[in-house]
Amino acid sequence: MAKYTEAKCRMCRREGTKLFLKGDRCFTDKCAYDRRPYAPGQHGRARKKVSEYAVQLREKQKVRRVYGILERQFRGYFVKADMAKGVTGANLLSYLERRLDNVVYRLGFANSRNQARQLVRHGIFTLNGRKVTIPSLQVRVGDTVEIPEKSRKIPVLAEAQEVIARRGCPTWLEVDGAAFKGTVKALPQREDIQFPINEHMIVELYSK
Ligand code: SF4
Repeated sequence: MAKYTEAKCRMCRREGTKLFLKGDRCFTDKCAYDRRPYAPGQHGRARKKVSEYAVQLREKQKVRRVYGILERQFRGYFVKADMAKGVTGANLLSYLERRLDNVVYRLGFANSRNQARQLVRHGIFTLNGRKVTIPSLQVRVGDTVEIPEKSRKIPVLAEAQEVIARRGCPTWLEVDGAAFKGTVKALPQREDIQFPINEHMIVELYSK
């Protein structure tokens, strides 16, 4: 399976913002973006004239990197979002939020989406009582994600309650830290996504 191999902190520096790809490290003074808040490479600090296309492209790359999705799959989400009822940009973000790996991360069962994806692939979680291994699976209202008894001693999962208390849980999800269980209460709405994203730029880019 294809995956990103580029250094994660380099992606933040390229996009000019913190993407929080490394879990707890992103909140410490070891954060590479805090130390060097400019693009990587020899000309990283050079001032450049940026075209409209470049701004749109960077916005799309930023969102792709936040959710850890490759171009082909991302475009697939856009096509689905465009065909669905409602606003294309909001639909796109909703599809991304509803990915199982993102839900696991949002529930506080993993420190980063990357880690969530790895845990899902290893079959650690159950969805509605059945083992799942597909990170891109779309959750639906009423679905429950659970960590079975035998996996609760895995260090990152044992810390889940602490992470939930620290990070909180979005309103469209409900988490019971003591029972290692999360429920999808509603579909995510645009206002549930706090990370700064200009989705209309992505729509404009793909609509050219
Ligand atoms: Fe980005 Fe900083 Fe986290 Fe690295 S540590 S992934 S630069 S936010």
